[in-house]
Amino acid sequence: GALSLPEAGARPVEDLESYRGVWVFAEWRSGVVHPVSRELLGAGRKLADKRGVELAAVLLGHRIEAAAAELLDYGPDVVYVVDHPELARFTDETYAASLVELARRHKPEILLAGATTMGRSFIPRVAALLQTGLTADCTDLDIGENGLLLQTRPAFGGNVMATIVCPNRRPQMATVRPRVMKPAVDRRNGRVEAVTLPERCFEHRVEVLQVIAETDETAKLSEAEVIVTGGRGLQKREHFRMVEELARLLKGAVGASRSVVEEGWIGPSHQVGQTGQTVAPSLYMAIGVSGAIQHIVGMQGSRIIVAVNKDPEAPIFDVATYGVVGDLFQFVPAFIRKVKEE
Ligand code: FAD
Repeated sequence: GALSLPEAGARPVEDLESYRGVWVFAEWRSGVVHPVSRELLGAGRKLADKRGVELAAVLLGHRIEAAAAELLDYGPDVVYVVDHPELARFTDETYAASLVELARRHKPEILLAGATTMGRSFIPRVAALLQTGLTADCTDLDIGENGLLLQTRPAFGGNVMATIVCPNRRPQMATVRPRVMKPAVDRRNGRVEAVTLPERCFEHRVEVLQVIAETDETAKLSEAEVIVTGGRGLQKREHFRMVEELARLLKGAVGASRSVVEEGWIGPSHQVGQTGQTVAPSLYMAIGVSGAIQHIVGMQGSRIIVAVNKDPEAPIFDVATYGVVGDLFQFVPAFIRKVKEE
């Protein structure tokens, strides 16, 4: 059915000029700021300077002084902190209500968040409540000549890059995937501002009873410095073990193409690409992966890419630093032997 927002049509034209400043929603886990927030503050600083406005980080949680102090290192002019026991655990309702209340009060012109599990979950709700647009999964952000936020992201299966603007609503909202933007480096003389919100912001109908951490170490793809990815060229589940063994030997994580995930050789948390994770390790090995555009958009930021494929025309070689044209069943066991010797 059609999506209808309450009062969407009835809303008066906004006074766009009354909105000022660039905001970054700052995510944290166990008291430590998520790397994507630092990356967003790096991107946000450029946007704020171009617009000649303040850069703010918004931190929601409970007992989060350490995260607030850490955020100051990443160069915001101000960190707005909402500290409340009900924010100790993330829920869509409380986080959305709090961020919406803050945005209504302070009226930022731009609001950015990470395209993490958390951001993907509650940021669309924030955009809907503020009755503004949202561009998800941006890979580039800039300010256009007319002062609008240019939000660039892959479209049509990664075949074109679309640049999207939000001319008539504020804030202009975008989520950005982790590891796409360069992390902020400069500290400024930023300040922390504690904000008190009305109790209704902390009401929620959903109760989180338990959080079970992912125990599968190899699924920590986005943090890994080395990733060994297997594709359909491995032919069956048992052969995929070679990739897992090589990843272990190189102290890296295991990646997979979507074909491999669909075959059920490994879980979806290992998938790299447009509908999987975006990664940018120091070393990315692609074994028996053809290099479909939907795969390449998720790994082309890697520093060194090694591709092993028997087809010299495979598109993975277009992005590879080193290409091994040959049979993976010869190369991989020999390579594993060599690594063990070292
Ligand atoms: P294949 O394309 O089948 O490639 C296997 C490769 O192995 C071939 O190049 C072959 O030459 C090589 N090979 C075979 N045998 C050997 C051997 N003995 N030695 C060496 N090489 C060998 N894909 C993703 O990976 N991630 C995504 O997030 C993703 N999202 C998608 C979203 C959409 C909307 C769509 C339409 C598709 C998406 N895909 C995604 C699928 C993508 O288009 C490809 O189908 C997929 O990446 C192919 O996986 P593959 O490279 O493992 O398999």
